Amino acid sequence: KLGKKRWVNYISGMENVHKRASSIAYKLSSAIQNNELELFYQPIYNIETGSIYSFEALLRWTNAELGQVSPQETILVAEQTGLIHEIENWVLNQALSDLAKLRSVTEKSATIAVNMSGLHMAQPKLLETIIAMLDVHGLQPVDLTIELTESVLLSDIDKEQNPTQQITSNGIKLNIDDFGTGYSSLAYLHAIPASVVKVDRSFLDQADNNTVTLECIHTLVNSLNMQSLIEGIETNHQSQLLASLGYNLQQGYLLGRPQPLAYYFTETFCYPKA
Ligand code: C2E
Ligand code: MG
Ligand code: MG
Ligand code: MG
Repeated sequence: KLGKKRWVNYISGMENVHKRASSIAYKLSSAIQNNELELFYQPIYNIETGSIYSFEALLRWTNAELGQVSPQETILVAEQTGLIHEIENWVLNQALSDLAKLRSVTEKSATIAVNMSGLHMAQPKLLETIIAMLDVHGLQPVDLTIELTESVLLSDIDKEQNPTQQITSNGIKLNIDDFGTGYSSLAYLHAIPASVVKVDRSFLDQADNNTVTLECIHTLVNSLNMQSLIEGIETNHQSQLLASLGYNLQQGYLLGRPQPLAYYFTETFCYPKA
């Protein structure tokens, strides 16, 4: 008897999951027109100089009925429904348009980093579209960084028309995101034309007992002429430990949470940090 009831609960649970997914997909299709999407910006600091090296754009979607939908869920649904191209183009355009405003209150050399889905990266006209957008905003390719996860980079690497090579040979910068979460990209690291390797936050959990690993990653990344960065730094202890290992680029709640553009124009935002 109990078994049957459980099964019924399971079925109705699955239906709810399914309902939510199709409801999200439906609402996402009008999210851009309804101004429901927004970008938050999180700074990446060079802690040696105290300057902001870059801002990372992070997608936020708030819908009247669904409330806040996480970027992971939004992107997943967008990929499944084909809305991803429209959304990633919106993100790119919005981020490039906000860069001049961010630079007006911070470092003139700060760049903008945009996360990109592998599906959008594979869009044949991507480069053309980006070059046109940069032009509209009076920006250069070096002002833009694209963040790709390991798995996307590895799936591209053997392609003849490797989109990451095309992008970077035009001067656009590339960050490897969530480094260390995929499987063995070490063999390929030298072949990826990245500027910054963003080591996944999970490495921080054992940072105290695992300085050897973090030191090795830093040495390896540097010897390939890239910079290493740790994501998700939350405490002074973490920040100092990593600085002592040579990690000058740092990002996390300690240094600055993702914030809406307007935040950077309030007095709460102190720059340079005291
Ligand atoms: P990500 O690119 O690895 O971004 C870092 C995530 O960690 C962000 O979550 C950020 O808010 C969070 N974070 C930053 N500092 C800290 C910290 O000190 N502690 C903790 N616990 N978390 C921290 P968020 O904003 O929820 O984004 C999650 C993921 O969604 C991103 O991971 C990225 O993969 C994806 N994403 C966000 N925006 C976009 C977008 O426009 N396009 C695509 N394709 N993906 C996006
Ligand atoms: Mg990222
Ligand atoms: Mg990351
Ligand atoms: Mg991540």
